[in-house]
Amino acid sequence: MGAYGLPRRLVEAARAMAQRGLARGSSGNVSARIEGGILITASGVPYERLSEDGIVEIDFEGKKRSGEGEPSSEWRMHVEIYRRRRDAAAIVHTHSPYATAAAIALKSLPIVHDEGKILFGGEIPVSEHAPPGTWELARAAADGLGAGSAVLIARHGAVTVGDTPEEALSLAEKVEEMAQLFWLSRFLEEEHVKRR
Ligand SMILES: [Zn+2]
Repeated sequence: MGAYGLPRRLVEAARAMAQRGLARGSSGNVSARIEGGILITASGVPYERLSEDGIVEIDFEGKKRSGEGEPSSEWRMHVEIYRRRRDAAAIVHTHSPYATAAAIALKSLPIVHDEGKILFGGEIPVSEHAPPGTWELARAAADGLGAGSAVLIARHGAVTVGDTPEEALSLAEKVEEMAQLFWLSRFLEEEHVKRR
C-alpha cells in the first residue's frame, strides 16, 4: 500500500464509520501506518466536516509533521499498536453502541455465529481498564489485542486492525454486528425460557 491517496481513504473510512452508526460526532478515530510514522484523524473534527487537511501526520513519538489541528487524543493507542504489530497497516477505533456495551459489561465478547468464528477465531477480549488518552490505555489495548485483529477497550469502545483502512473498518462493523447478535440471541433465549 503506497502513501498515495491514503489521506483520502482515511477521510472516507472515517465518514463511513460515522454514517454506519459506529461513531457519533467526532468520537472514534482512523489511522494508517506510513514510513516512520502514522496518519491519523484530527481531534474534535466532526466527520461530515473532515477533509484531507484534517488527516494529521505524526511520528511514533507523537510529534506532528503535517495536517491541521491536533492528532486524535487516542494517538498513543494507535502508535503503541503499530509498534508492537509490524503486520498492522491500519487501525479503526469506534464507540459503536453494542460493542461498547459489551466492553462495559463483559470480560470478553463470545462469538455466537459462524461468520464471526471464521473472521475472529475465538472470543474478542476486553482490555484492562485505563483512562482515555493515556499510555496506560495504549498499553492495555495493545496487550488485549495481542496477535488478534480486534479488541474491546474496557468501558470505552472497540479497536480493529487490518491491512488497509477499508479492511479495519469492515472488521469494526463485524465486531458491532457480533456484539448485537450476542445481545439479541441472549435476549431471545431468556424469552424462550420464560415462556416454557
Ligand atoms: Zn475512544
